[in-house]
Amino acid sequence: TETVVPSVPVAQPTREPGRLWHTFCDMNTVRKGPEFTVARAEGVWLWDEAGDRYLDGTASLWYCNVGHGRPEIAEAVHRQMLTLDAYTVYGDFANAPAVRLSERLAAHAPVSDPRVILTCGGGESIDTAAKLARRYHAVSGAPDKVHLISRTGGYHGLNGFGTSVIGMERFRTGFGPLVEDVSVVPHDSAAALEAEILRVGPGRVAAFFAEPVIGAGGVYAPPQGYFAEVSRICQRYGVLFIVDSVICGFARLGDWFGIERFGARPDMIVFAKGVSSGYLPLGGVVVSGRVAEPFWYQDDHPFLHGTTYAGHPTACAAAMANLDILEREDLFTVSLEVERQLDGALRSLADHPLVSQVRSGTGVMAAVELTEEALAERGITTAEVFAEARMRGVILRAVPTALLISPPLIITWEQIDHLVSTLAGALDAVA
Ligand code: PLP
Repeated sequence: TETVVPSVPVAQPTREPGRLWHTFCDMNTVRKGPEFTVARAEGVWLWDEAGDRYLDGTASLWYCNVGHGRPEIAEAVHRQMLTLDAYTVYGDFANAPAVRLSERLAAHAPVSDPRVILTCGGGESIDTAAKLARRYHAVSGAPDKVHLISRTGGYHGLNGFGTSVIGMERFRTGFGPLVEDVSVVPHDSAAALEAEILRVGPGRVAAFFAEPVIGAGGVYAPPQGYFAEVSRICQRYGVLFIVDSVICGFARLGDWFGIERFGARPDMIVFAKGVSSGYLPLGGVVVSGRVAEPFWYQDDHPFLHGTTYAGHPTACAAAMANLDILEREDLFTVSLEVERQLDGALRSLADHPLVSQVRSGTGVMAAVELTEEALAERGITTAEVFAEARMRGVILRAVPTALLISPPLIITWEQIDHLVSTLAGALDAVA
């Protein structure tokens, strides 16, 4: 069966792992081999327990934008822990880091009159945005507007709503009934979105979810003009346009929320990952004033939703220190140069007999798609390429037909060259 992280072949069983359950993965495979224990990290480098060094070609799971081991973030966390470790923002409680972070994100978000809801991660934020979209329509006199539309290849986390709207069928099956009134449209066609809104009925559609560049689904950038057209369509039919910037935000696409370069102004933006570079778990939703209005200014409309750790002051302090680094080192500009270098370096793989397509050049993210025929002929999977590359000291991400690349934004030209030539060596080794 297909798994998200394809099974890594291991020559000899060595020991039973302990009690840690690696979800996203076939534990039967993990059980047969030693786990890959990451012991230490600095910059773009990781070290395993044996002291061997690896290039982190995926910024962990797309999140470590500023690189590992930043003392400024560790110090900010330490200071905050000693001042106010944690306290809820339930009811009218607030804390300074949560307030400051919300102001800072609002100041940069391409959203009109923004408000910020804080959460602990991406999937939680998707659930927040989906519920808020449905509640917004309900309190605005359109309770039938509940239908949610997403895109093929779209990944929006695996909480309840995220699992329901995901554009990859394998994640949806086997869980019984999910959230109802959802559908998926091809990711490259604004006309298909409009047709779907008309099929469902504009009076029934609540929201459309889209990543600026599809990430986990295989790195697909939008066609020219796509998001401008999508914005117009959503406006025309009163459908809330929700951008999922969980991967694309915080300079991975060279701007704050990953949607700016496509010229769209969404009704909500979901963020996580790069907001704190993952030093502590954090996410949230930037909400336009129009959507916030009934909840902020009309009586009897609280948004009855939230989680225990939302607005966690220490996580917010980590995010503030992370954003300081992004701004001080101008990683917004740096990442555009890294995007260009990575794109250029990956072109050399386009002619490899195992490679069918290289998708790169929009953001510091790329996919090297392998030809299914070549894989089938040789009886191999992307997992073998992943394992070869890791043996050679480079961490990539394997999905069913591609290798994904999303390094920290501080990666140098030499390190990009090392990443790409190691991938080439891994491809040669399995070919
Ligand atoms: N949205 C996108 C685009 C993502 O890539 C992810 C995670 O990879 C999520 C949402 C879910 O975030 P989390 O894993 O923090 O729940």
